[in-house]
Amino acid sequence: MATGKVLRRAVKAAAAGMIHYSGMRRAMAAYRRSQSGGRRILIVSYHRVVSDFTGELQRSIPGLLISQETFRRHLEEAHAAGFELASIGDAVDVMNGRRVAKKDLCVVTFDDGYRDVYRYAYPVLKQMGVPAITYLPTAFINTDKRFNHDRLFHLLRRVQERRFKPLYDSLPAPALQLLGPILSGQKTVSASLDDFIGEHPTRVLTEIIDALEQQLGGGADLLPEQGDVMNWDEVRRMARDGFEFGAHTLGHTVLTLEPQEVVEREILESKRAIEREVGITVKDFAYCNGWYSDEVIRVLSANGFRSGVTTEDMPNRIGGDPFTLKRKVLWENFSLGLLGDYSSSLTGCQLDDCFGVLGMSSPVPGKRPHFISGPAGGNQVSSAPVRASPTSLNSNEIVVGPETPTNIQEAP
Ligand SMILES: [Zn+2]
Repeated sequence: MATGKVLRRAVKAAAAGMIHYSGMRRAMAAYRRSQSGGRRILIVSYHRVVSDFTGELQRSIPGLLISQETFRRHLEEAHAAGFELASIGDAVDVMNGRRVAKKDLCVVTFDDGYRDVYRYAYPVLKQMGVPAITYLPTAFINTDKRFNHDRLFHLLRRVQERRFKPLYDSLPAPALQLLGPILSGQKTVSASLDDFIGEHPTRVLTEIIDALEQQLGGGADLLPEQGDVMNWDEVRRMARDGFEFGAHTLGHTVLTLEPQEVVEREILESKRAIEREVGITVKDFAYCNGWYSDEVIRVLSANGFRSGVTTEDMPNRIGGDPFTLKRKVLWENFSLGLLGDYSSSLTGCQLDDCFGVLGMSSPVPGKRPHFISGPAGGNQVSSAPVRASPTSLNSNEIVVGPETPTNIQEAP
């Protein structure tokens, strides 16, 4: 790990201790509460909850992982920090003034419907009586398919391990942008992938996967074993226990890179699939990669949705737009103290957004330009949109580490 990263983590861990024990943490929470209109509405996002974090770290995208034990501690910490663990519906009701909250709210969300969540988060949530919503990319349910981000990560690691020299001539042109920085050692696999995925439509990712698999000679070890998704029976079992489900497109598609008809199909068909299979009404949506546009929001609000969650790490406000809900994406290392062990004061400071108050984190806006009127596959949708902060990692869905801000700015 880079020295800078270790140093930043040490600074945060040390600061957290001071902020916590000096009473500043309470003052910062109160500041955020008044900024939010009287109650804080914290929405946290997780991906995979695993039993063996260190083992899984060897083969998976780090920023998607949290151990079951740390996950449990997060819930306890949120409770201790004065949050009521609430449902997304409660949060929306409080935001639009239909309900007044007695306490600050914390909403637990999971993106992508990984089976780990069923295995390791669901029992903890059930035991503690904590509500949660899971956002499902429905084309993956009841299949053995793996997500493009997990497949690419796995392939890129094989490329590294085998010291393989890709033949760029037979790869799609954008592949150089992904592979170049990794092979030259400028970026880690996760960082390069994180930058790349947000800029290229699903079609390009699939083409690169296919071409790389071919160059690497095929074989079963080119597909990750981990990263499996829940099946409908598991979804139904959680739903029977009161856990909620929202839509997350069909194919885990970044909608702002797609034309109108794809946007509509991905939103409507994922909603209908969950409603048909689970027998619930789906009203909530999570934007893939955290990216949204006015056009995407229009499709959601015209089709019975009440909310959309982003990955913008900023406070929610009472009276704010329920289709641009802000979320804090968390993973194991958000709680890593000075000695590499779990730090209660650091976790508390993260949940209270102390580093946001201090301007030590840099939220990246999820709103993107959308060339939605173009024909399917038109080249204007595949050109890279402007990224506000190309190396900032903790705002996109595929997070690599919480502490790599390049432009220090305070959340507005
Ligand atoms: Zn996702």
